[in-house]
Amino acid sequence: MAKQIDAGKFLVIECTAGELMNVVGTDICICDRCGRAYLPSDKGCYIAVLNQWYCQECYNEWIEQVVWYPEDADVQRKNFEFYAPLLGVKC
Ligand SMILES: [Zn+2]
Repeated sequence: MAKQIDAGKFLVIECTAGELMNVVGTDICICDRCGRAYLPSDKGCYIAVLNQWYCQECYNEWIEQVVWYPEDADVQRKNFEFYAPLLGVKC
C-alpha cells in the first residue's frame, strides 16, 4: 500500500514497483538510479522532486546526501499532486 513517508522537505511516496507500474502503464519497473529491474512486489520510493522511482537501497543513499533547493518546490508539488491521487495517497 503506497504511503507518504517523512523525508524532510521532500515529498516521497513509498510504494512497490507494481503500484507505480500500474500508474505509469509500463510492464517493467526499473530503478532510475541503479538501473536494475525490480519485481512488482518490490518496495521502493517515488521521489516527486526527481519524478523518479528509486529502489529502497538507492533511496537510502539518496536521502543521505541530497540537498534541498527551494526553487524545486514548485515542480515537486506538481509531480506529487499528479501522482499521489493515482497511487491512492492523500495530498
Ligand atoms: Zn536502485
